[in-house]
Amino acid sequence: MAEFTMELNDEQKEVRDWLHGFAADVIRPAAAEWDEREETPWPVIQEAAKIGIYSLDFYAQQYFDPTGLGIPMAMEELFWGDAGIALSIVGTGLAAVGVLANGTEEQIGTWIPQMYGDANDVKVAAFCSSEPDAGSDVASMRTRAVYDEAKDEWVIDGTKTWATNGGIANVHVVVAVVDPELGSKGHASFIVPPGTPGLAQGQKFKKHGIRASHTAEVILDNVRVPGSCLLGGKEKLDQRLARARERAKAGGVGVPPLERSRESERVKNAAMATFEASRPAVGAMAVGTARAAYEVALDYARTREQFGRPIIDNQGVAFQLADMRTSIDAARLLVWRASWMAINGRPFTAAEGSMSKLFASETAKKVTAQAVQILGGNGYTREYPVERMHRDSAIYTIFEGTSEIQRLVIARTLAGMPIR
Ligand SMILES: Cc1cc2nc3c(=O)[nH]c(=O)nc-3n(C[C@H](O)[C@H](O)[C@H](O)COP(=O)(O)OP(=O)(O)OC[C@H]3O[C@@H](n4cnc5c(N)ncnc54)[C@H](O)[C@@H]3O)c2cc1C
Repeated sequence: MAEFTMELNDEQKEVRDWLHGFAADVIRPAAAEWDEREETPWPVIQEAAKIGIYSLDFYAQQYFDPTGLGIPMAMEELFWGDAGIALSIVGTGLAAVGVLANGTEEQIGTWIPQMYGDANDVKVAAFCSSEPDAGSDVASMRTRAVYDEAKDEWVIDGTKTWATNGGIANVHVVVAVVDPELGSKGHASFIVPPGTPGLAQGQKFKKHGIRASHTAEVILDNVRVPGSCLLGGKEKLDQRLARARERAKAGGVGVPPLERSRESERVKNAAMATFEASRPAVGAMAVGTARAAYEVALDYARTREQFGRPIIDNQGVAFQLADMRTSIDAARLLVWRASWMAINGRPFTAAEGSMSKLFASETAKKVTAQAVQILGGNGYTREYPVERMHRDSAIYTIFEGTSEIQRLVIARTLAGMPIR
């Protein structure tokens, strides 16, 4: 194991500086325009594709960084530039990870390139899990996939909502119920290839923040996809469902949580480990937005004069900045710890991934509000970026599990209770 160090290595510093340059020179200057337009910033995504930031290769490289810091570092820099544009750049990754985690090699090779397109013709992908009645409570999902054996096709019907890139994606990854008796164990993920009849965009949401990122409903009406679009394949699904039915028979479903079998716990722990490993990435996005707002506020406080001196000369302002910086650094350390644990396969015995997402997202909301306050009237206008950063930061405590759900996961983990 590597010696303990708080320093990034030379390669990481180089990548960080390269990303920071793109965030400062390309993303930040475009942020206000795309926020106002509330449209996907295709030209910026294309720029990112041209230099290799918008590609699977780039994310794979960061993902396999043995220190675990590649992804959090990349997220922090891109979201420092602007959250809405950065989400438009990394949103495809959410769908790609869905395929990487569950797909066969053939599925990975076929679909992931189509998710990104190429620098001259960029495409995006969407991951569609949430539904109008199934947000935090994923198990109450209703979108149904039924196998048509005669044609070796799956028929998918339902309504997805809040899908980042939903309806404009080239490839949609859709989570659907294949066995309603099994709760979340009866779900499976499907690729919906480009141009499949029956998939349509519903309402596009007008949002409070991250307005450059496209968020919409996805309607699936008698969508037929080939059997080969079931991620992981039918054989694996049948085996998984058979195991889940066995567990259900042995009392895994409908029995009070504390009495569930050890095998059922093992499976739940595996699912939880996946979430614990992905949540720090959202924490890192929040750190990026918080840091951006803090930097604007610090600069303003040093230069804005009232009562004949810079406002930072007032303890009331300076202490706020001290608290802001302390919280941001603490959030980053929690994110890095959880990311390090994930890559090293350490067990998340205190839900450290959820902890990092909870603390970083709450920090971003608080720090951006403080930044607005420090800029006074200017902070409240669109002349300065902290107003946008404040609006953007509200998403972090909502998506990828709300703060309440993170607290629930942490508390249940500490209590030794299963997570539903
Ligand atoms: C901009 C944006 C982009 C998104 N992108 C995607 C995407 O790409 N793909 C996707 O599938 N989803 C996406 N989502 C959906 C997101 O993950 C959900 O909005 C989130 O999980 C919360 O679900 P909900 O909105 O239905 O809220 P609800 O689950 O209805 O929650 C409402 C409130 O109740 C609280 N609450 C719920 N249950 C409990 C409980 N047991 N204890 C305490 N409090 C509770 C919540 O914390 C929250 O405060 C996105 C959402 C947004 C806003």
